[in-house]
Amino acid sequence: MHRKEMALAAAPHFIKAWREQPSLSHTRVRDINVFMEFSLTDEQLQLRRTVREFAEGEIAPHVMEWDEVSKFPSEIIPKLAEMGFLGVIFPEKYGGAGMGYLEYAIIIEELSRVDGSVGIIVAAHNSLCTNHIYKFGTAEQKKKYVVPLAQGKKLGCWSLTEPEAGSDARGTRTTAARNGDGWVLNGAKTFTTNGHYADICVGMAVTDRAKGSHGISAFILEKGMPGFKPGKKENKLGLRASDTSEVIFSDCKVPASQMLGDEGQGFINSLQVLDGGRISIAALGLGMAQGAFEAATNYAKQRKQFGKAISEFQAIQFKLADMATEIDAARLLTYRAAWLADRGDARLTRESSMAKLYTSEVAVRVANEALQVFGGYGFIKDYPAEKFYRDVKLCTIGEGTSEIQRLVIARQLLKS
Ligand SMILES: Cc1cc2nc3c(=O)[nH]c(=O)nc-3n(C[C@H](O)[C@H](O)[C@H](O)COP(=O)(O)OP(=O)(O)OC[C@H]3O[C@@H](n4cnc5c(N)ncnc54)[C@H](O)[C@@H]3O)c2cc1C
Repeated sequence: MHRKEMALAAAPHFIKAWREQPSLSHTRVRDINVFMEFSLTDEQLQLRRTVREFAEGEIAPHVMEWDEVSKFPSEIIPKLAEMGFLGVIFPEKYGGAGMGYLEYAIIIEELSRVDGSVGIIVAAHNSLCTNHIYKFGTAEQKKKYVVPLAQGKKLGCWSLTEPEAGSDARGTRTTAARNGDGWVLNGAKTFTTNGHYADICVGMAVTDRAKGSHGISAFILEKGMPGFKPGKKENKLGLRASDTSEVIFSDCKVPASQMLGDEGQGFINSLQVLDGGRISIAALGLGMAQGAFEAATNYAKQRKQFGKAISEFQAIQFKLADMATEIDAARLLTYRAAWLADRGDARLTRESSMAKLYTSEVAVRVANEALQVFGGYGFIKDYPAEKFYRDVKLCTIGEGTSEIQRLVIARQLLKS
């Protein structure tokens, strides 16, 4: 017999023996099942209701107006701060809301269900900029920067990507050269979310080119520092109310106290920051997929053709069924990654990449099918489908493209 056939033949005996272990009574089997907890706590459900109410009341009425003219929603920032959404994952002693990643995912999901632009503004601020300082900053830096960022008194951005260094950020060209006790930065970053509006920026620069990925360091820059300024604001396909900008360093002199983390560890630390960041991009895609699905379902119930609601046609029902199933699967992956982050689990890289990869691809498929359910009206700006369709595409690109997520997952699977 082949090994596989032998294993199959032995399976019933193995299962029987496993069930009959003295320590594994039937009750114990049920106990194990209880550990697979799929329901949110009352507090998390209440949080979801609160964010939904906020997003529908404060954001929904302005979404198309902001999108049309690419207006950064400055007026919503103090309200997000008041709700604690700008310091979700940071302890109260640093001015944060003291919540976990699961709550963070719920918040990003609910904001993005209404407007992905607000979702990405909050995500870049929390899990990229503030989290990099929170994770790797000195006590002094945390007091000076994490507190106002988590309180939402200041807005943050995080600059890794450069024109020549996207998927391969080890190709960073921006330099930081020693200048007495401090550093002088020169170079340009691209595609920085919140770049124009941020008060505080975490930027990566090469401090020792010979050391490759161990020669890139992180720095904290403040708005108004001489030689540091935002550059071109990108005119985008989607997420148009969010700001995506160049960030420019020209002879930007900073004291040594602005270095974040150990010298040469900026890129390595960024990879850890991205583990958490990818959960937020998964939640961003999840929220937009949910929004597109709900819009399509409601439309299908009221749109009549051939004398009946189009939701009565099996072709439309199957689309809705596929969308709902994929969204559920994406939510499970996203919440699992968030749960691992809350446990401080070391396996997070694989799981957060899986959540980001799957959810963003589901979001693109769902938004496409939702638009199809709307027919010609899906193509028209009076209906929400076209905006979801444009906005979701970012999710397969930002914080590592789908191709890079597959590389990351495969690397994790194959490492011994
Ligand atoms: C709206 C928006 C917001 C963003 N916000 C931020 C931000 O706040 N901070 C920040 O630092 N960056 C940000 N980014 C940048 C984003 O992370 C990069 O765009 C992304 O990492 C891809 O880099 P790239 O655009 O240079 O594409 P490239 O790296 O040039 O990739 C082009 C194509 O080649 C593929 N490819 C590249 N290498 C490989 C490989 N080894 N194997 C297989 N395929 C490969 C890619 O998957 C992609 O399909 C943002 C981007 C956008 C569009």
